[in-house]
Amino acid sequence: MTSPTSVDPQALEDLVDANHILFNKGVVDAFGHVSVRHDKRPDRFLLARNMAPALVRADDVQEFDLDGNLTTDDARRVYLERFIHGAIYHARPDVAAVVHSHSPSVVSFSAVKSAKFRPISHMCGFLGDGAVRFEIREFAGDATDLLVRNGALGVALAKTLGSGNVVLMRGHGSTVVGPTLKHAVYRAIYTEVNARLLADALRLGDVEYLSSGEALATMKTNEGQLERPWALWKEAANRDRTR
Ligand SMILES: [Zn+2]
Repeated sequence: MTSPTSVDPQALEDLVDANHILFNKGVVDAFGHVSVRHDKRPDRFLLARNMAPALVRADDVQEFDLDGNLTTDDARRVYLERFIHGAIYHARPDVAAVVHSHSPSVVSFSAVKSAKFRPISHMCGFLGDGAVRFEIREFAGDATDLLVRNGALGVALAKTLGSGNVVLMRGHGSTVVGPTLKHAVYRAIYTEVNARLLADALRLGDVEYLSSGEALATMKTNEGQLERPWALWKEAANRDRTR
């Protein structure tokens, strides 16, 4: 057990806001979680204790090493699926934030093998050539509770994610990553939006997806102005909380 390193107060505030925003936008409910890599210790990350994201306050945030162990003596309950976060931070030095959720429209695409999850809107270019799908049965048999509840499953998930931004988890949800917390939150919100739009579009007929070039170009444009949606989402989430 080591002592916690001091965290940038702004990073902590942003993480609390991210929890509230993701609830306000319907990405998480009582379940799901968001983490950020420690700003001074890249071998650690910050994640709330086991609780509903909408209720998270700064003193609910705990610090973990990349194996998912708490770095302090803290008897409070931790999230079962914290291994998702540590394994991805270990595998992906470019990632500084991770959102894991069960956002409902995405679950359908996780369960239908033949349905491609590619971007159909210019707001969702970060999906690139499409999200990969994690099949937990390949790693843990056909009688699990589908949760990434140990380090080995975390590593398997990170391997499936590869260099992508989004991994679908069959019958469960998705995990979304970004080079900053604001990227990860934006992408998690628009992963759910893409799923809704795509489910609608598939009912209408043949879908024209963004090309690889369009996906890249639109990602660069939208992710160059993340402060704009962040300010709106933060305001809306805080307004709803204080009503
Ligand atoms: Zn989960």
